[in-house]
Amino acid sequence: MKTYQFYANGVWHDPAGGEWVDSYDPTTGEVWAAIPRCREPDVDLAVHAAQAAFVEGPWSRMRASARGRLVHRLGDALVTHAEALGAVETRDNGKRSVDIVPGLQSWLADSFYYYAGLADKLEGTAIPVDVPDMLNYTRREPYGPVACITAWNSPLLIAVWKIAPALAAGNTVVLKPSEHASASTLELMAALQDADLPPGVVNAVTGLGDEAGQSLVEHPLIRLVSFTGGVGGGARVAAAAARQVKPSIMELGGKSPQLVLADADLTLAANGVAAGIFPPAGQSCIAGSRLLLHSSVHDEVLEKLLQIVDGAVLGAPADPGTHIGPIANRPQFERILADIESAKVEGASLLCGGRAVSPPGAPHGWFIEPTVFTQVTPCMRLARKEVFGPVLAVLRFDDDTEAVQLANDSEFGLAAGIWTRDAARAVSMAERINAGTVYINNYFNATTQSPVGGFRQSGYGRENGIEGMRAFTQTKSVWLSTDPRQGNPFAA
Ligand code: NAP
Repeated sequence: MKTYQFYANGVWHDPAGGEWVDSYDPTTGEVWAAIPRCREPDVDLAVHAAQAAFVEGPWSRMRASARGRLVHRLGDALVTHAEALGAVETRDNGKRSVDIVPGLQSWLADSFYYYAGLADKLEGTAIPVDVPDMLNYTRREPYGPVACITAWNSPLLIAVWKIAPALAAGNTVVLKPSEHASASTLELMAALQDADLPPGVVNAVTGLGDEAGQSLVEHPLIRLVSFTGGVGGGARVAAAAARQVKPSIMELGGKSPQLVLADADLTLAANGVAAGIFPPAGQSCIAGSRLLLHSSVHDEVLEKLLQIVDGAVLGAPADPGTHIGPIANRPQFERILADIESAKVEGASLLCGGRAVSPPGAPHGWFIEPTVFTQVTPCMRLARKEVFGPVLAVLRFDDDTEAVQLANDSEFGLAAGIWTRDAARAVSMAERINAGTVYINNYFNATTQSPVGGFRQSGYGRENGIEGMRAFTQTKSVWLSTDPRQGNPFAA
């Protein structure tokens, strides 16, 4: 069993309270590591390190191009350590190694490279203000120490999406991963040491959300909170930040619709729908968990979907032959099974799946079959609540207006998929759907260049792209007078 320390000011520490939290391997159901249970004194240590690195430098005083070069080296460190980091994430939260390792080596490393390139391109503007003899210009400046709080479903991905733009923009960072999957974030800190960042520029505390997390959000030296998690947690964190008038970025949950129109390529659509939810066992914020089918293709799409699901292999996430890995933690496993039972009680019809299973080689892990419910109505809990598991709710519609109305009948607005051969119709529907991302004849794509984020209760602020970097900066307006004749305001 591995016992971790937390990382602050470039040094590893035991928690002051001398307590650790068990971390479970979801494939075996066994404890495999212990992560520090940080409390207020540990958080204070990390935040003061971040403050010193920001205020006293060198991070804040460094030339932006030099900072960019260091952020670039973080990308190199990620590539070098991808296999080891991926192995820990696979062990700790059940992410399939065939997804995580190539992801770290390519597009997650690209995140550092992309923002490294932007570090010295944060331009302001010169504004022709309506005041004589005056030069006015704006600057984009970092906030200072920022808190980055991440969810358990993709700890490394979410951490990199936050720290790459935050650091490149000149902020310093204190990360707090979920108590359910903190090991890979601590390993990330070790990997990033390769880049020789100045101490205190990036720090990570672990422990419970309402202890370490809350202390971090409420620390007076934290100037911005970037949060990824559920709506409930997000609302609490946003309220705590607001009490200190701190800005926040909220990346929250979803109940994203996949709309299959009558003219769609049905094989493409069925493949895309299955790929949009089942490989990560539904544990993705943008999982397409509501399937809206035109009545004329309803049965045919479900037939194809059943065939696809039938071929899915559940198993150990480290096995390259595995299609669907485990549920990342026991509380979530139990919540999903309870949601399945509740869907049955409210009258949805179980088409396939619905059971916990024990795949060969992982008899004690937390696995749930890919599950499809039909005859779901819009007011059912199953159509409204984010299950965050491999559970697809199928609804039907008869025309485009009804399809858009059903798609928008949700408090969430994270993503949506449209499957049709008619591009003009798809573009028109995309304009009417309330979602931060709309996919047409594809699903699940995300790259560093394009912003992601939510409408409605799926959150606010954006990650990735140039917007993702601007979110970590604030605007300063500078007024320079070129008129030497400042008059006495009180002269007669
Ligand atoms: P969560 O329960 O809201 O927790 C998110 C993070 O907040 C965890 O690190 C948690 O720590 C911490 N936390 C909890 N209470 C806190 C408090 N009072 N103050 C400060 N931090 C606190 O969410 P989750 O169950 O980890 O993640 C699943 C959710 O994340 C789903 O809804 C999913 O859709 C969403 N998600 C969204 C995106 C996106 O980009 N939009 C991406 C991935 C996931 P502990 O776990 O230690 O309590």
